[in-house]
This record gives sequence, C-alpha cells and structure tokens, in this order.
Amino acid sequence: MNNKHPGFGFSTRAIHHGYDPKDHHGALVPPIYLSATFAFPTAEYGAACFAGEASGHFYTRISNPTLALLESRMAALENGEAAVAFSSGMGAIAATFWTLLRPGDEVIVSQTLYGCTFALLHGIGEFGIKVRHVDLTDLAALQAALCPATRMIYCETPANPTLRLVDIAAVARLAHQQPNVTVVVDNTYCTPYLQRPLELGADVVVHSATKYLSGHGDITAGIAVSSHAIAKRIRLQGLKDLTGAVMSPQDAALLMRGLKTLALRMDRHCSNAQAVAEALQAHPAVQWVTYPGLASFPQYELAARQMKQSGGMIAFELKGGIDTGRRFMNALKLFTRAVSLGDAESLAQHPASMTHSTYTPEERAQHGISEGLVRLSVGLEDVADLLADVQQALGKCARAVARPTLLAAHAGK
Ligand SMILES: *Cc1c(COP(=O)(O)O)cnc(C)c1O
Repeated sequence: MNNKHPGFGFSTRAIHHGYDPKDHHGALVPPIYLSATFAFPTAEYGAACFAGEASGHFYTRISNPTLALLESRMAALENGEAAVAFSSGMGAIAATFWTLLRPGDEVIVSQTLYGCTFALLHGIGEFGIKVRHVDLTDLAALQAALCPATRMIYCETPANPTLRLVDIAAVARLAHQQPNVTVVVDNTYCTPYLQRPLELGADVVVHSATKYLSGHGDITAGIAVSSHAIAKRIRLQGLKDLTGAVMSPQDAALLMRGLKTLALRMDRHCSNAQAVAEALQAHPAVQWVTYPGLASFPQYELAARQMKQSGGMIAFELKGGIDTGRRFMNALKLFTRAVSLGDAESLAQHPASMTHSTYTPEERAQHGISEGLVRLSVGLEDVADLLADVQQALGKCARAVARPTLLAAHAGK
C-alpha cells in the first residue's frame, strides 16, 4: 500500500506497508505461509525461477511471502530499497561479511563492537581478510587507515556497550571518496525510528531484530537493509549458500507484530531511560554515567544531530568498580539480571563477564570497555517503579562504599 501512498508516516508504514487485506480473504493480519517449498506451474517456469529469469517463491531459504512482506516493511522503515531477513542478528552480520569480503580485502571497524561481532572478525581474519580496528570518531585516523584494499567500514552507533557514537555522515563521505567501499552500520541500539543510517550515506544497515524491533524477547532475528543490488547479493550468497541463516515465517509474523508498536515503545524506552540516567547521575555512589541524553555525554551535540531521541540503553560504573556493580545487580528487584536488550522488561548485565567476555581483558581495556561497566536496558514499566528499584539498589552500594571511607576517616584521627 505504501507504493500508492508514499507520504505515510513511520508508524503507518510499520502497521500497513506492503499489505492489503483484500488480497488475503479480508484477513486483517497477514497470514503466515508455513511452506518450505512452492509449486511450479510448469517445469520450464521452475527452471526460469532457478535461473533468476522469473520472479516467484520456490524455496523458503531464498524467499517466502511472509518473509517478503517483513522485508519490504523493514526497507520502508529504514528508507532502503530492499531487505533480507535472517534467523539472528549474527546471521545477518555474518552473511553480510561473507558476501562483501574476500581474501586480501581489508575491513575497517570501529573500536567497540558487540562481543560476538568482535569474535566473528577474529574468525574472518583466519580466512585472509585483514581487520583494522580504528577509532572512527577520529576522521584523520580513518583517512590514514583507508587503502586501496579497503572494501568495508563497519560500525555500531551507539556502540554496545560503551554508547560511543560514530558520525555516520562524516564517515560515509570519507569512505565514498574511494570506489568499492561499503559502509555498514549496526542500527540495533537505535532502530529506524531513532536513526536512519542509509539517509546519512551508509550502504547497508544490519540489525539484531531480537532486540527493539521485535521488542518482546520471544524470538531471535536479524535484518540487513540496502540497495536492491546489494540485497540480491546478500540473499543469493550470504543467506542462501554461505550461512543458510534463514528466518522462520512464524518469527517474521512475531516481528511484524512487534513493529506495529515500535514507535510507541521507543518513545517510552527513551523517556524511562532519561529518568533513570538522571537518577544515576545524581547519586553519590555512581562514578560515571554514559547516556546520550545527558548534557555530560561527550558527544551530546552529535547525538542530538544524528538521533531523534537518546535510546533506552545506559552504561555506568559505580564507585568501587565491579564488586560494587555486582552488589548493585544482586540488589535489583524489578530489573532482571539478563543479557539481551530492547525488551518490555528492564534488564541489567555486566558486559566484561557476559556479552563482551569474547574480548580478553587487555582487548577490553584497548577498546574502551571498563571492567566495572554495568549495562542497563531500560524497559517499559512505570518509571516510578524503575526509579524506586534503582534507588534501593544504589542505597545498598552507597553504604558499602561509605563504610571503608568512614573507617579511613577514623583511622586518620
Ligand atoms: C545482540 C546484538 C547482536 C547480535 O544479534 P543476535 O540476534 O543475538 O544474533 C548484534 N549487534 C548488536 C549491537 C547486538 O546488541
């Protein structure tokens, strides 16, 4: 339907794009096509499908009507031409790498990345692809790292878990001074509601749709969005042959259900996170807080320019480092101790021992992930309840920190 009404807003597209009930017996909600294979009217037509000369579904690892609807909706939301759905975020990222990189190529990646993406880069390194970790906030460093073998620049913004931002437009401008460099952005933390990298000059957007896009913590899923030409290559190489990481049609239906409320949910994640970040910042037990919506955020101006709102993720460290951090996490009653993010439930985790344990301690230090960093995914609960939980848990930490200080004061007398 979007083709007929290109002017519709974000939520209207998230709810309606690509679907008209009158084509489906009036069904308001798109049916799920649970079919692995599709009938050919003739042998000749089947051969034409395989040769890429006829369009049409023939096997679900390559395409399926339910997946195709989700893909067209995601393309419409990211303002890309086409999308490819995967069974996980890592499926989407791995398929993108395997499709776009060959032995002898170089890939420049930002300093801090999700732990399994970091591990995947070690993996592709063993296949003769050179990986350069560069601080992409330093454009001179990027310029110096670019060389004729560079084929891809890859970043997360905000990065998991440090929330450091990359100026997508500036990086894309520099990258595209050279032919054959593809800029790939992991947009998991923002979703297209808060940030659209393709509009800023990136070539491919990848997502862990396990997180905010599906939003209910009940599936693992991934998406890659790009031009038609790149999506076709990712589908026919990375998805079909090199990973086989196809999304199930049932998961596509759950993901489309999540997309319908994406804008509403993101607004609430953002306002709840802003309140939690401000409470953390005001508390004496807290060493530092990183949240793009705080005036103290080092890239506050870039955040305001590049992101519609500040997101639902917070990184912070307590005085007393990880020992106090563990005390805080164990004292939480409403926040759940769990990895993942973007769910209705608020979650707390410790990246150094959990999501980013794929880094060695030296690598974490080098890539800006402090050992005491606690990551919060602020959910959709009532903000007063979230603040009360954080305050009571911080209260326990404040006492733990205050005690040795008092002892030291006494000792000094
Ligand atoms: C979770 C996550 C991934 C991996 O996605 P899965 O769906 O777990 O495979 C990739 N990037 C970021 C930023 C993530 O948070």
